[in-house]
Amino acid sequence: MTKFEPTKISSIKQVWEEEGFSFRKSLSQNFLIDQNIVDKILNAANVKNGDVILEIGPGSGALTLSMLKRGATVYAVEIDPISTRILTKHLSVYENFHLINQDILTTDLSFLTEGTKIISNLPYHITSPIIAKISAMHGIFNDIVLMVQKEMADRMLAVAPSKNRSSFSIFSEYYFDIKSLFIVKPGCFMPKPKVDSVIISLKSKENLPYNDPSDFFKMVRKAFSQKRKMISSTLKEQDIKKALASLGLDPNSRPEQLSLKSFIDLYDLLASS
Ligand code: SAM
Repeated sequence: MTKFEPTKISSIKQVWEEEGFSFRKSLSQNFLIDQNIVDKILNAANVKNGDVILEIGPGSGALTLSMLKRGATVYAVEIDPISTRILTKHLSVYENFHLINQDILTTDLSFLTEGTKIISNLPYHITSPIIAKISAMHGIFNDIVLMVQKEMADRMLAVAPSKNRSSFSIFSEYYFDIKSLFIVKPGCFMPKPKVDSVIISLKSKENLPYNDPSDFFKMVRKAFSQKRKMISSTLKEQDIKKALASLGLDPNSRPEQLSLKSFIDLYDLLASS
């Protein structure tokens, strides 16, 4: 059997050829082939013996193998059947490797316990629903280190006022303290993506403002549905201008100008009136 070295191009190409694997763009398959970057990601998450880690989309197994070598228990969820077959063949020697051949968006993760880490080079096309799924399990994951497309990181990290802000910025900020760690260039992947990627760290916030934030997010999404317009003209059912003014905010604010705190204050004020 070919020696399994996922970040060594000749080795991984041979494995793929043996198994009849070909890249599927529709699954955001850009595989890491740079061991330095793999090590930097694992160091950022302080991966060590005894850790329990959820990996979303292990793909060719570059991160997976290194996490297993460090003695972590890895639950990896991969949708691609051929990747799954390859990883089963080459990584089953590790007793602490658990592979789930499913779509992460429908996988029941309720077996994971508090303190589980998440490390993933995310399938970019489903970044937002994955973050939403993770946030719904608040309190389970403490260290989360993700690779996302730079544009997505810019949106998640945008501080008001900023054109990069969207309802997703507010959503991310509501649940997590987010930091940008480092950029990963297209040359570190096979095949090469068109854009830069960014490694971000997310720490779950301890106290969340609402037990059920669904109405709050409904308001935020509505405010951003017409991003260039003033909030007062998008949310017209109440006297928004007056509410903004009473909070010391510009009555003509557009959604991208408001911080998370301002949105919370506005929501609370409207809910109480
Ligand atoms: N972890 C690998 C690496 O860093 O080289 C691969 C990362 S690649 C960007 C994304 C991976 O997610 C691919 O292996 C792809 O097949 C997998 N994937 C895509 N959609 C998925 C889904 N809905 N559920 C689980 N895995 C998915």
